[in-house]
Amino acid sequence: MTARVGDDVFGEDPTVLELESRTAELLGKEAAVYVPSGTMSNQIGLRVHTRPGDEVILEADAHIRHYEGAAAAGLSGLQLYPVHGERGIMRPSQVVEAIRGTQNWDPRSRLVCLENTHNRAGGTVYSLDVIKDIESVAREHGLAMHLDGARLWNASVASGTSEAEYAACFDTISVCLSKGLGAPVGSVLVGSRKYIDRARRERKALGGGMRQVGIIAAAALHALDHHRADLKKDHDNARVLADGLAAFRSVQLDPSLVETNIVMFDVVDGRSSMEVLGELVTAGVRMVPFGPTRIRATTHRDLSAEDIGAALERAAPILDRS
Ligand SMILES: *Cc1c(COP(=O)(O)O)cnc(C)c1O
Repeated sequence: MTARVGDDVFGEDPTVLELESRTAELLGKEAAVYVPSGTMSNQIGLRVHTRPGDEVILEADAHIRHYEGAAAAGLSGLQLYPVHGERGIMRPSQVVEAIRGTQNWDPRSRLVCLENTHNRAGGTVYSLDVIKDIESVAREHGLAMHLDGARLWNASVASGTSEAEYAACFDTISVCLSKGLGAPVGSVLVGSRKYIDRARRERKALGGGMRQVGIIAAAALHALDHHRADLKKDHDNARVLADGLAAFRSVQLDPSLVETNIVMFDVVDGRSSMEVLGELVTAGVRMVPFGPTRIRATTHRDLSAEDIGAALERAAPILDRS
């Protein structure tokens, strides 16, 4: 509340400038731009690399494809080439196969987007080796690399690969302060000076130029400084939650697949996910539908180990039915 502010459209908000330079430094890049949401950050990321009619290679379950209002098509005239990875992870050979030829009827392959961790696949983590191999394929064909790193922080904690090591493989990286890190608002798009200069123009055009926004950037800075180390607790909680859920008779779940703070499971007793979620809410446990029988549970910094135990206790009469 006592943050120093200025007009960020004029580049004069000291708190925003600090957030941008600190995030860029953390990821080992030249520059960064603060944006209202991860969706805007990704969409700007797409726009700085492409022209209308270009094609973007991404994993079939990518957030950019499923949860951003088809903005790639609607706002930027892009075609998405979905690659069916294994639990959200693309193999380098699949990316090779997705790259188009140069005939005049071929779409122009321009950009490869990765998501780390992968939300819809259940918080799965890319290994640095796989990303490096995908990068060399992309570079060989003159394609740019964008990372949807809404949960890059979680990927780093889980894999031990630093954010900067991951970021080195990409031209632009979007990170969210408002997910696991717990800031109220905001994402940051990071990259070279050239791309971030373009990104500032795109941000303004999309209506994302904000004025005395240091007031929320200060919360984002706090999250960056103080909350990253806490993510391991979320991962530990997710594992305990997964073990507990897997023991319930109405649940199908392999807890060994839980890598970070997301637990995906299916209801296998004939009820729909919506039906079950309705009962869970009444019991005070909130999860999210991810398909007709699929449910996503996410652990976060406001949950303690005791809360996980309490959630399992409340969920038992609903999910442990014969
Ligand atoms: C949440 C999320 C986003 C978008 O963030 P918003 O701030 O909700 O727009 C992008 N990518 C992934 C993988 C996400 O989980």
